[in-house]
Amino acid sequence: MNVDAGTMAPTEHGECFVLSDGGEVDLDLGNYERYLNITLTRENNITTGKVYQQVIERERRGDYLGKTVQVVPHLTDAIQDWIERVAQVPVDETGEKPDVCIIELGGTVGDIESAPFIEALRQLRRRAGKDNFMQIHVSLVPVISGEQKTKPTQAAIRDVRSAGLSPDLIACRCPQPLQPATIKKIALFCDVNNEQVIAVHDVNSTYHVPILLDDQKLVELLTTTMSLDKIEIPAAYIKKGKALWKEWRTLTLAQDRLYDTVTIALVGKYTDLHDSYLSTVKSLEHSAMHCNRKLNLVWVEAEALEPAVNASDPAKFHKAWHDVCTADGILIPGGFGARGTEGMVAAAKWAREHKIPYLGICLGMQVAVVEYARNVCGMKDAHSVEISAETPNPVIIFMPEGSKTHLGGTMRLGLRPTVFQPGSEWSKIRQLYSEAGQILERHRHRYEVNPEYVDRLTEAGLNFVGKDDTGERMEIVELKEHPYFVGVQFHPEYLSRVLNPSKPYLGFVAAASGNLERFLHPEGEVLTNGDVSP
Ligand code: GLN
Repeated sequence: MNVDAGTMAPTEHGECFVLSDGGEVDLDLGNYERYLNITLTRENNITTGKVYQQVIERERRGDYLGKTVQVVPHLTDAIQDWIERVAQVPVDETGEKPDVCIIELGGTVGDIESAPFIEALRQLRRRAGKDNFMQIHVSLVPVISGEQKTKPTQAAIRDVRSAGLSPDLIACRCPQPLQPATIKKIALFCDVNNEQVIAVHDVNSTYHVPILLDDQKLVELLTTTMSLDKIEIPAAYIKKGKALWKEWRTLTLAQDRLYDTVTIALVGKYTDLHDSYLSTVKSLEHSAMHCNRKLNLVWVEAEALEPAVNASDPAKFHKAWHDVCTADGILIPGGFGARGTEGMVAAAKWAREHKIPYLGICLGMQVAVVEYARNVCGMKDAHSVEISAETPNPVIIFMPEGSKTHLGGTMRLGLRPTVFQPGSEWSKIRQLYSEAGQILERHRHRYEVNPEYVDRLTEAGLNFVGKDDTGERMEIVELKEHPYFVGVQFHPEYLSRVLNPSKPYLGFVAAASGNLERFLHPEGEVLTNGDVSP
């Protein structure tokens, strides 16, 4: 029933993904952007809350002209119209209307919540025409005492059929490759051909999944079921697609042969659920692949670094510090609220003093500023007002335009420019992005560096190398005499791609791997994922 993912705790549902238009959406949208190299809008995420909100608003306006408003047809029509509208919106640099729209219906067949959506899709199949619609059913094939069990799949397909839909393809999630006998059994009892049953078994990394699907002739099946060969695709696109596919395969398969590792300590507060930091982890993975390193990610609960909290559990405290002190790089991701922030400040201090590569994202940048103010500028009580409202030295303050009464959709959100400041040519982060004067990255925050403290911090050596286009808002901090100490107010992880990793992450992992020089472009010849137009 949530209208968007913005007000949901990351520990409950995983990270809130942020789109260029500022939409706060389900993390699945991030997977689609990353895998398909597309840019989506908030309209691409339909939730029950959102579609009911639309229908109720229409009812209040009197749009239904006295009719009784019902789930069928009003809600189901609204869902279909929404999908048809969104399917027309260009999503890539060609600016052209897409040829294919992928609709992911979350949940499980039989869920009360998904019933109106299933009915809407049944009707949409009629609207689109049978040859323009393909239904893929994802099902679990558990292995019990070594035996692959097909009953859950059979039962699920029966449920889908009783709702009026019939799968064209059954994708079976299984820990191991499907045995030919399992495929045959599913085909027989679900009444499809053997080719319509494909195995999505566990593989080394999610980057291997497209290769697995290609090996099972998924492209051929998609082409025949939806007559995709009738679409005229310009030769240049085909050439580009083939080159991308080759690059993807090479990079993914090379990963299997890597021995050297890079150890990154992620010091956060939502570490119990790793999906809370999904895009951050993906960006580290993308970067490690390009640095020829296996990523060894170590999760550190920020609170465990605080002596006061762990007085009764010294082993936990020492283990956490061991993980921080032995890491090649320390990352502090985004977050909200006070819990764990003192542990984060301590980790940032360690990274600064011991010249360990550091990347601070959003809260991680704010923490680095607090640490610098306290331990270098001598403002012992410096803090963020998010954590200590009464601090005498509020180095991080509430942004004037924010709402203090409404939490939904009221942060500074979406794609915004950062301008590199004159005299920052030495900056590693600038050289990573190339020397381009301006970059665009996605934001999600309520607090910011207090402009009144910028001069003092700068004089003490903390460089604000990137600011927003008004020059009032601090976007990037960096230390000069350090292998890599960077804090960014934005979230570059939302624009990272396998074949084009996010620059702040790439620089960080490269510095932690000892090969940062390879990625610096003092002449400014490369400008990639920071250069996405709104
Ligand atoms: N809580 C901080 C703010 O609102 C940081 C937000 C974040 O890390 N996304 O500014």
